Amino acid sequence: MSAWPIGVFASIDAGLGVKLEVAKELGVPTIQLHAPHASSRTPARAQEFLAKLKSYGITLTAVFGGFKGESYADIPTVVKTVGLVPAETRAARTKEMKEISDFAKLLGCPVVALHVGFVPHDRNDPLYKDVLAVTREVCDHCKANGQALHLETGQETAEGLLQFIGDVQRDNLFVNFDPANMILYGSGEPIAALKKVGKYVRSIHCKDGTWAKHPGKEWGCEVPLGQGDVGMYNYLHTLKEIGYTGPLTIEREIPQEPERQKAEISHAVNLLTALREKLL
Ligand code: MG
Repeated sequence: MSAWPIGVFASIDAGLGVKLEVAKELGVPTIQLHAPHASSRTPARAQEFLAKLKSYGITLTAVFGGFKGESYADIPTVVKTVGLVPAETRAARTKEMKEISDFAKLLGCPVVALHVGFVPHDRNDPLYKDVLAVTREVCDHCKANGQALHLETGQETAEGLLQFIGDVQRDNLFVNFDPANMILYGSGEPIAALKKVGKYVRSIHCKDGTWAKHPGKEWGCEVPLGQGDVGMYNYLHTLKEIGYTGPLTIEREIPQEPERQKAEISHAVNLLTALREKLL
């Protein structure tokens, strides 16, 4: 596959992505997939899905874990509900993440990804050690499946993420860089962050957003690609600088408006295609 194939975030029965049929209509050659519900994570469904991908000429580049009970309603709710950080659900979700890795293996996919949640920064916080432990557990399970684990950016600053990845001490732990999340969560200027974590970036999202009035306290606003504060030319230019050649996976998290979602992703495909021509 040539450098920077365009992609889109897709869903079967769970998550914020577009349906596979929409990915086909958009003519994109790659997708990242939000892991389907447990009932759909069977060998038979995997074969069905693979056959569909093949007939559409689409390559699956990553499977994203997500869990029941997660809510992105506002920043405090994300802290309480997302990823492997909340204590009440940690064991069950760690187990589920391993099952998602097994399902990704059935799909022949070498990358599993997730939002790990709001990791505390203090190394002496018992919660920090607990999250380290489960992240290692998931990394090791992925490794046995021949996979890498990618952490979605957003909740941590670049420094916080570097510290955490270093402390996990696993060679199959990398970053799925989402520049808009840095803005939405107020966790740092995305281009500077990308340069800092560049050596770990193995997959990315193309998403845009505008800063909140009080970054980190309230949400920024997700907007169509090219209309926010990321700066798409600068973003792609920096990806080139760090040597990133993987897919450009478009994410537009408005599944409640499928027509608009498809139209805006189509526009994003055109924008990225033009920028790619200019930069590569
Ligand atoms: Mg993202």
